[in-house]
Amino acid sequence: MDERVQAVKDRVHEACLRARRPASEVTIVAVSKYSDVSGTGWFLEQGMSHLGENRLQAAQPKLDAFPQAIWHYIGSLQTRKVREVVQKFAYIHSVDRIELAEEINRRCEGLANQPGCFLQVNLSGESTKGGFTAGELRNFVRSISTYVHLQVIGLMTIAPQGASDDECRTLFRGLRELRDEVRLLGEPASRIRELSMGMSQDFEIAIEEGATFVRLGSVFLNQ
Ligand SMILES: *Cc1c(COP(=O)(O)O)cnc(C)c1O
Repeated sequence: MDERVQAVKDRVHEACLRARRPASEVTIVAVSKYSDVSGTGWFLEQGMSHLGENRLQAAQPKLDAFPQAIWHYIGSLQTRKVREVVQKFAYIHSVDRIELAEEINRRCEGLANQPGCFLQVNLSGESTKGGFTAGELRNFVRSISTYVHLQVIGLMTIAPQGASDDECRTLFRGLRELRDEVRLLGEPASRIRELSMGMSQDFEIAIEEGATFVRLGSVFLNQ
C-alpha cells in the first residue's frame, strides 16, 4: 500500500482508538476531484472503493471508467442535474435546501437503487455556505415522511476554512447532538444515523466527535 494511504489509515485508526470507536464505523471517501482518470484509478488500486466528486461534468469520465466504485456526490447540486446524479451516485452528501430534497424525491421514484442522502447543515452561520440551519433542519425532519422516495441516512457539515481545532470540535459535536435529537422524531427520522464530517484539515477531530464518513482529498496529495 502507498505510504500516503497507509498514513491516512493510521491516523483514522488512532482517532478511533482515542474515541473508543471501532475503525469499521468510519468510511473514508477518497475525494478524486483533484485527479484525472488515471489518478482516480490509483485510489481504486489502493483499495479505496468510496470515491467523492463535487461536479457532475468533471466526474463523468471517471464514472464511465470506474463503474465498480461507490460514488459519492459531495458538491453543491443544481436541481436540473438531479436526474442524472441520482442514477449515477450511491450517496449524495449535499442536500442543502428543501427545493433540492423535493427534486431528489421526485427523481428517485421508481429507481431501483435510491442514493443515500445526507442533509447538509450550516451550523457556523457562514452566509457563503449552503445548508439548513438547525431550526430549518428540525422543521424539515418533521415533514420528512412526506418524501417517500428520499432516503435520508445522515447529516453533513463543512467547517469554515481556517477554523481552529476548538471551533471545529464545537461544530462537529453540534452536528452529532443535532442528529441524536432529530432521530427521536420517529420513523423515518430514526434512520438518520450517519455523520459526514471531516476533511483533510480536521478529520481526526471529526472522528473523535462521531463522524462515520470522512471526505478526504488533499491529504492524499501532499504529505
Ligand atoms: C473538496 C472537498 C472535500 C475534500 O477536501 P480536502 O480538504 O481536500 O480533504 C471534502 N468535502 C467537500 C464537500 C469538498 O468539496
